[in-house]
Amino acid sequence: MSWIPALAERVKNLKPSPTLAVDAKAKRLKAKGVDIVNLSAGEPDFDTPEHIKEAAIRALRDGFTKYTPVAGIPELKEAVAEKLKRDYGLKYSDSEIMASTGGKQVLYNIAQAILDPGDEVIIPVPYWVSYPAIVELAGGIPRFLQCEADSGFSLDLDALEDMITEKTKALILNSPSNPTGAVYSIQDLKAVGKLATENGFMVITDDIYDEIRFDGNGPDNVASVMPDAKDHCLIVNGVSKTYAMTGWRIGYLAGSEIVVKACTKIQSQSTSNPNSIAQKAAAAALSGPQDCVSIMRDAFLERRDFIVDRLGAIAGVNCVEPKGAFYVFPDVSSYFGSHYGDTLIDGSLALADYLLEKARIACVPGIAFGDDRFIRFSYATDMDTLKEGMDRFEGALKELG
Ligand SMILES: *Cc1c(COP(=O)(O)O)cnc(C)c1O
Repeated sequence: MSWIPALAERVKNLKPSPTLAVDAKAKRLKAKGVDIVNLSAGEPDFDTPEHIKEAAIRALRDGFTKYTPVAGIPELKEAVAEKLKRDYGLKYSDSEIMASTGGKQVLYNIAQAILDPGDEVIIPVPYWVSYPAIVELAGGIPRFLQCEADSGFSLDLDALEDMITEKTKALILNSPSNPTGAVYSIQDLKAVGKLATENGFMVITDDIYDEIRFDGNGPDNVASVMPDAKDHCLIVNGVSKTYAMTGWRIGYLAGSEIVVKACTKIQSQSTSNPNSIAQKAAAAALSGPQDCVSIMRDAFLERRDFIVDRLGAIAGVNCVEPKGAFYVFPDVSSYFGSHYGDTLIDGSLALADYLLEKARIACVPGIAFGDDRFIRFSYATDMDTLKEGMDRFEGALKELG
């Protein structure tokens, strides 16, 4: 018998990101030559725009390859400040901004910086897969606020108010939302701001899809619609989704200097600065020409309209029209209890497995986002793939009895 290393308690219950797992399985099958239609990806299919790549190449040529300040280079922080002013009308100084290795690390740093064991964080359901894990890794307790498709996944403000305790440290908002594509109304954002100031908790506002909106309105968040609540807001954002830069790993935080300082301390003892070259590229993305953003947004909109149309025509599938991001989250629960041969489709996991094994479509089961009635399709892929995916999906559902 070989010796077995003992792991820490905190990692024993930790599950790997389910979305990355589905994507990996789909890619593995594809590599084996299986003809997979992958609608599971959580990233734009576009290449990073050329002028952004050029900035990185220039940085490399100029020898910009050393450690930078932990919280990021001034040039990037200025570009972030400029963006927040341009899109939200919000002013942040250098000491209120920090850059990290993706929006995900920003969220991780925040949780480590503000949560003591037993502190509660309210998370609307359906949620982005990593929120509960990030909270739990910091010793916090996720409190789940159920949101319903009937109301377009808007916040149930009465239920939210009822959930607030002395232990409530923060609420996480993600608008536009992954996985639902929902955008919170200005009225609801204001109501959240009021609850935060009255009850003294922080609003972690994950604005990563802020530029991918189809409702004609600009980016907004609790801080921009309610200036009195700005001190309570921690803005999380990054360049991954807006500029097709998921692999570059640059995200940023804007908020109270106290929290930014604490996050910087944590980052200084964990990963240090984010990649120097990627910081230069991110600065170019934020401060350069923005027409690439609207070109990608228009493409996402065309695909959204297509996929919502197709899903709407399938019996037993109900889908709220997404207002942003690049996902649809149809309710497929009317198919639960049906069979394929001897296999019972008893939930979103079984359906997603069936779709992958039999129809060769990769999607993410809703249970990964805290709601088993749904599955998530990404439409960050070309129209031919989407069309083929919807043909297969419709055909596969017909075979269930
Ligand atoms: C993709 C994503 C992020 C962060 O992505 P990074 O690549 O780490 O910047 C954060 N929140 C949501 C909801 C996302 O979908």
